[in-house]
Amino acid sequence: MFGKKPSLAEAQARMVEKQLAARYITDPRVLQVMAELPRHAFVAEELWGQAYKDTPLPIGYGQTISQPYMVAFMTQALQLSADGQATVLEIGTGSGYQAAILSRMAAKVYSIERIPELAEQARQNLDALGIDNVEIKVADGGYGWPEHAPYDGIVVTAAAPEVPAPLPAQLAEGAMLVIPTGPRRQQELLRLQRRGDRIIEERLAPVAFVPLIGEHGWEEDEY
Ligand code: SAH
Repeated sequence: MFGKKPSLAEAQARMVEKQLAARYITDPRVLQVMAELPRHAFVAEELWGQAYKDTPLPIGYGQTISQPYMVAFMTQALQLSADGQATVLEIGTGSGYQAAILSRMAAKVYSIERIPELAEQARQNLDALGIDNVEIKVADGGYGWPEHAPYDGIVVTAAAPEVPAPLPAQLAEGAMLVIPTGPRRQQELLRLQRRGDRIIEERLAPVAFVPLIGEHGWEEDEY
């Protein structure tokens, strides 16, 4: 569909079966979108041979695209409505891959990236696939994007010491925020859900993400 070489298509199908379906990624929409959207289109050509391996990959500027399983796990954890009408906020656009996956399950994705060159690259990656329901801005995502709130899901793909206070405030009723928090090199993936005036918190898994840099995250020279 996207002009993949057969070997990449085979690797992608195997990735979905062995890394996702075999590890409790059960949401059929997540499995379908991960089978359809080419991850290799979000990394440099010299990395295409590794694009469907069970590993994060460098995307420049010291940043990484998460391993496929983590993208699937976080997407599934948002429990987006099946009608495809959700509005989602992503913090940490990076390559645009996570945003692309979300764009196929939601009506609109807003995504914030602090490094302008990555935001531009992500834009190009998304345009090349004809994805037109993702809006990207260059900013400190720790503040969220209040103009378009409330969101039916918020996913943060960089790790903060604690949950940035502006983010739970931008959740719609019943909506989930998925975010890695904790010390610099290892964190816990948290899921927060708004229920009326209360926020329910769950711990999902131990994880290791690149740092969220900014007012609600780490200082740039701390790593
Ligand atoms: N979701 C991305 C991977 C992101 S890596 C993908 O699918 O490719 C984490 C990204 O968060 C990096 O690109 C990094 O520059 C960005 N980032 C770090 N701190 C940020 C902040 N305060 N606001 C927005 N983006 C931030």
